Amino acid sequence: MAQLLYKSTRNDKNVVTASQAILQGLADDGGLYVPIEQPTISLDFSELQHFTYQEVAYKILAAYYTDFTEQELKTCIANAYNEKFESAEIVPLKEVGEDHYLELFHGPTIAFKDLALSILPHLMTTAAKKNKVANELVILTATSGDTGKAAMAGFADVPGTSIIVFYPKDGVSKIQERQMRTQRGENTYVVAVDGNFDDAQTKVKELFNDQALRQELANQNKQFSSANSINIGRLIPQVVYYVYTYAQLVKKAAIKEGEKINIAVPTGNFGNILAAHYAKLLGVPINQLICASNTNNVLTDFFATGVYDRNRPFFVTSSPSMDILISSNLERLIFEASGKQVEVTKQLMNELATKGTYQVYPDMKEQFADFYAGFATLEQTNMAIHQEFDRYRYVLDPHTAVAKAVADRYKKETKDQQTKMVIVSTASPYKFPEVVVHALDDSITAKNEFDWITQLYEQTSLPIPTAVSELYQLPIRHTREIAVGHMRNCVKEILSIE
Ligand SMILES: *Cc1c(COP(=O)(O)O)cnc(C)c1O
Repeated sequence: MAQLLYKSTRNDKNVVTASQAILQGLADDGGLYVPIEQPTISLDFSELQHFTYQEVAYKILAAYYTDFTEQELKTCIANAYNEKFESAEIVPLKEVGEDHYLELFHGPTIAFKDLALSILPHLMTTAAKKNKVANELVILTATSGDTGKAAMAGFADVPGTSIIVFYPKDGVSKIQERQMRTQRGENTYVVAVDGNFDDAQTKVKELFNDQALRQELANQNKQFSSANSINIGRLIPQVVYYVYTYAQLVKKAAIKEGEKINIAVPTGNFGNILAAHYAKLLGVPINQLICASNTNNVLTDFFATGVYDRNRPFFVTSSPSMDILISSNLERLIFEASGKQVEVTKQLMNELATKGTYQVYPDMKEQFADFYAGFATLEQTNMAIHQEFDRYRYVLDPHTAVAKAVADRYKKETKDQQTKMVIVSTASPYKFPEVVVHALDDSITAKNEFDWITQLYEQTSLPIPTAVSELYQLPIRHTREIAVGHMRNCVKEILSIE
């Protein structure tokens, strides 16, 4: 197969191999690496329906990561998708009423980021060897709740790596906070930041581009890398489950081979839905991609008007992993819609950085026809949880409920009732037990987070995942709390840089 190279969305001359792109995360010109062309592979679903998850993963990763050997990819896949997942299928598909839910929460941290973050450390350390990098890889990441934990679970005690996670102090759930603060691994560091997710993420990006800091790290044989969803080492493994799911729908005879489906994705940083878009470009028959937001609805407005405007109030909602005003991965779609023009992308992203807003050119907006965007309020989210349980005894987490609410609005508005709808289910309800119990019955009270878990079990009989049941036995290992302005110093202190 011909070598597939990647280039930065902001510089035509910044061209790298897949393994180099994985190692670097963000390009040093501030851009994101994109495949120069989408690979051309044949997706024969009469054959693919008999593939295991791991076999589909190999087919897709081999198409994108052409400088990895077959043996390397198969080892990475075997290390990632194994008993760490509580389901042998890895991503079970549940038929509920007229919809299908793609359950991406059976991994070690019971949220969808496990799918990418369980393989990323293996891709990265393989990429380091391939590129003769002897430096220790320092993973620096900002999290809106789930990424941080999933990244630490992936990187904990992986030789040659360490990981520092920043999370917004009041922007994550109690369970998420406890999951992070109990993280094992001598190479893991967790820091609560006095600010919201965007503050932390903006600062992390600054640290990545801080040449002086990079030099200080290099002097100590260390270098930064990113586990955030901008890394193509995360994006591409997410393409896998869309291909696998389509194959499973064919296998179950829920659709005929070639029949188009809709996919509704609860969206924050635009990584998961971009992976679905890549799956469509690869040849998965997809009609509409439904981009679902909570009241931080910057993407809903963007797709409606072509204007991206982050200058708006920030809301802490019941779906905190989507409380995001800057959806980083959108840059890749902007780049594509511009006809792959780095100057246009750079200009718009500079406007975003300086003014907090930009408007795409009219011909770019036409490229977004595959996307339908909408948002759900807190009330609508709770209603979705309530109704789905009432009707089908199926329990939604608040993120998935946002997608369900928007998917229903799509059907009503467009009258597209016949296309099969796959709703992407991104977290276990046990990650947000208080929200879910309240949505089911707002008269229930509980004393603490543990009580809410018990209540959720009593209300629904949904089995409690191991990741939750063990949580209250583990000791708190991380207690750092700092102001956003101190993040740079904090990194230096952790890494013992004077
Ligand atoms: C991260 C996350 C999302 C948003 O995914 P993006 O790829 O950032 O759009 C949605 N739901 C949950 C539970 C998440 O953890």
